Amino acid sequence: MKILKRLLKIVFALIGVLVLTGIITLWVDSLGTNYLKVNKNEPTSNNSYLITNVNIIPMNQDTVLVDKMVYIKEGIIEKIADTIEVSGIQIFDAENKYLTPGFIDMHVHVWDRYELGLYLSNGVTAVRNLWGMPMHLRIKEDIIKDNIISPTFFTTGPKLTGPEFIGDDNLNLTNPIEAKEKVISYKDRGYDFIKTYYGLDKEIFDTVIEQAKISEIDIVSHPSQKVPFSYHLNPQIKSIEHAEEIVQQPLQFDLDTIKLQPIIDSISQSQHTSYCPTITVFNNIYQMMIDDSILHSESLEFMNPLIKKVDSKNQFDRWFNAKQEDPATVDRIKKQHDFHITIVQKLHEAGVNIICGTDAGIGVTLPGFSIHKELRFYKEAGLSNYEVLKTATVNASKTHEIMNSLGTIETGKIANLLLVDENPLLDLSSLENPIFVFVKGRKLNRETLDSYNEKAKNRKNLLASALRYLENLIFEK
Ligand SMILES: [Zn+2]
Repeated sequence: MKILKRLLKIVFALIGVLVLTGIITLWVDSLGTNYLKVNKNEPTSNNSYLITNVNIIPMNQDTVLVDKMVYIKEGIIEKIADTIEVSGIQIFDAENKYLTPGFIDMHVHVWDRYELGLYLSNGVTAVRNLWGMPMHLRIKEDIIKDNIISPTFFTTGPKLTGPEFIGDDNLNLTNPIEAKEKVISYKDRGYDFIKTYYGLDKEIFDTVIEQAKISEIDIVSHPSQKVPFSYHLNPQIKSIEHAEEIVQQPLQFDLDTIKLQPIIDSISQSQHTSYCPTITVFNNIYQMMIDDSILHSESLEFMNPLIKKVDSKNQFDRWFNAKQEDPATVDRIKKQHDFHITIVQKLHEAGVNIICGTDAGIGVTLPGFSIHKELRFYKEAGLSNYEVLKTATVNASKTHEIMNSLGTIETGKIANLLLVDENPLLDLSSLENPIFVFVKGRKLNRETLDSYNEKAKNRKNLLASALRYLENLIFEK
């Protein structure tokens, strides 16, 4: 007995040491993103001021409002007019530059707070995180309490799949009762949306939809292959993810535009369904295959160290081997990418609400930077500059009711804005390096934004990222 007692003591002591080490590691890691902390003593002029001499791209119509004034009051757009008189307020002279709504990236995966700075430096002032974990609820809370400078943050709960095991990153629902409980609990805990994933079968999916409707929480779907594609055109499902899912499931990899048309028409007829094509993440498979040194490229310095070590490398190896086995794979992937562009073109022609999402944060798809790439692909699909901008602003904000206060420059909206040198309706590239990014009215100049990029390079916090992932595995299962 004595030996057993002693043994137990040792085990408990070891667990204690491990937990303590974990806590210390996470605490030290949190200091590494102190630069995003809000200075609570900052002057009120930081989010209340008058912008003068500014040309506005409001994004509620295809126009430029020339030489206006915008009154920002406590982070909200209070008034837009030719002249506004407010006494005792800071004047911000925009010197005839152009003001647009900030970008909304509708499909991201955040692993670490430093990535929030990368989104901001690229003009992304709101993100929809599609793989929710406890850490995301903490990020959200810190943003709501105005503790950290960040894009406006929305997150789904953990990805819901069926009983079949398809990786440790999903929540496997085994029966409808469990499905119901999870939807209720995610809503209670503060997740903004339910994410359904590809292994969800009909019985459980029906329950998820039914409960989401009762709980008044929107669903975002990575299409499940256990139900027909058309099943996802349900009013409770506000967006469907990935153009490649259309190729995989209803088209069975047959890149046929004639067969594509009725699928596009069905999405268009559903009215309530936005489509998030995520062209970049698939195109990056092609980029991996034509660049053997991509993992060592400078841009990969921005990837989370855990993702780089595990996911980026696994993806690279997988496609590298596929290419070795059959060199024709490279061409096949390129052809499929080209077909995704056709899908965007057809979705657009059919009047589907296209929303810009990148799938940033996984593989070699960079947080922030990749939005410009995604927008270029939409342009390539034949959208005008105005229509391209809509996908990352107003189209996104009208997808979910809780995003309604974003996406346009109008009275009452949150002052998430970009100030750029040239008219982006004439040239989208002017949006790549905004001279100012405003988030909830807070002005961030280029120098500050560049410093976010510098600080995000070559992060060393693999262990802290792994611990946060482990927390998810332990507490969400
Ligand atoms: Zn994703």
